[in-house]
Amino acid sequence: MSQDAPSIPNDLDAFWMPFTANRQFKKNPRMFVAAKDMHYTTSDGRQVLDGTAGLWCVNAGHCRPLITEAIQKQAAELDYAPAFQMGHPKAFELANRLADLAPEGLDHVLFTNSGSESVETALKVALAYHKVSGQGSRTRLIGRERGYHGVNFGGISVGGIVANRKMFGTLLTGVDHLPHTHLPGKNAFSRGEPQHGAELADELERIVALHDASTIAAVIVEPVAGSTGVLIPPPGYLKRLRDICDKHGILLIFDEVITGYGRLGTPFAADYFGVVPDMMITAKGLTNGVIPMGSVVVSSKIYDAFMTGPGHLIEFFHGYTYSGNPIASAAGLATLETYKQEGLLTRGAELGAYWEDALHSLRDAPHVIDIRNIGLVGAVELQPIAGEPTKRAFSAFVKAFEKGLLIRTTGDIIALSPPLIVEKGHIDQIVDTIRTVLGEVD
Ligand code: PMP
Repeated sequence: MSQDAPSIPNDLDAFWMPFTANRQFKKNPRMFVAAKDMHYTTSDGRQVLDGTAGLWCVNAGHCRPLITEAIQKQAAELDYAPAFQMGHPKAFELANRLADLAPEGLDHVLFTNSGSESVETALKVALAYHKVSGQGSRTRLIGRERGYHGVNFGGISVGGIVANRKMFGTLLTGVDHLPHTHLPGKNAFSRGEPQHGAELADELERIVALHDASTIAAVIVEPVAGSTGVLIPPPGYLKRLRDICDKHGILLIFDEVITGYGRLGTPFAADYFGVVPDMMITAKGLTNGVIPMGSVVVSSKIYDAFMTGPGHLIEFFHGYTYSGNPIASAAGLATLETYKQEGLLTRGAELGAYWEDALHSLRDAPHVIDIRNIGLVGAVELQPIAGEPTKRAFSAFVKAFEKGLLIRTTGDIIALSPPLIVEKGHIDQIVDTIRTVLGEVD
């Protein structure tokens, strides 16, 4: 650790931390003060292996020179440009690169500052698209149980996490939810895509029959549900959703905030599953998590519907002060360049078999009731302690941190998503540490 590492303030009360047990945390704070490649440095000078790419975002590893330098240079050259009715070259350059990287047919990019904002943006594009196409009756939105789409009102409405919804009133009206695809009784310990459950996509037909297609705007799903425990769809499931959407003129939105940028061993999950949505939401790995930025990549069909209308001053009444911010754009360009130079977007395919075998070697470890994996993401699900859900996994998280490994827990599930620069030795360390920790937790 460098001599000038920041000291911890005495008073930790002012910062109301996100999704955190604030009172507990502040009694025993866990703080990072530096990071490099696969490791964090803690405030007490320990190295912690990053098993989660920060929060599923630092796909190229930490403090990568190309990205750091691009940000520094941009900050010194053009710090900010007005986002409305004005432009700067890097936002256009990044949009071009993203459109090139995205699946065929997704050619136009709206920029935001986060995954949550991208979700709101995509839902609004969906509604407005139908309106400009003369089908303004299509206002209903369909999400999925156990879906996570950020924390803003649209996102929690189409999302399917009870705890994130129940304090906040009626939310958006006109929202239905598909069933989730997690079938532990049938699919436990599947390797990669689980065998059972493709027919769950047909629930969409039931919802369409209930409301009539003429009222439905869009379906939004995470191709692989990340935050609720790495729930992988069975083969054919996403294709069925696509087919049903096509049949009824419904837009399909993939929330690729976690699955984007190489997490599954392909640039996007759409590539992995061979299913192209009408809109793809990305964030996190777009800038390697370094600067807040998100995107919605939309099809030409959608874009053209807005551009061929009568001449307007503004085609879409939506946008943010920081949409396409110069420093974020520079970070995005340097990030995509780093992925390209180092072949990181396909590294999950190269290392996937090793990752899978390593994770599944935990099958006989104490408390383990399921293991799931795809690309370079995985989950180890633990038997909850009766009457005290989440306690066992959280104590595994604390113990792993003490032993020099960052994992993430969601409910009683350990979720893993290392930076894509991970080596086999790191994977061994991740698995060995988890095995040790599971032997120690109650
Ligand atoms: N969608 C998905 C699928 C996510 O995983 C997340 C964040 N984990 C979000 C949206 C929200 O992103 P943010 O926290 O950047 O708003």
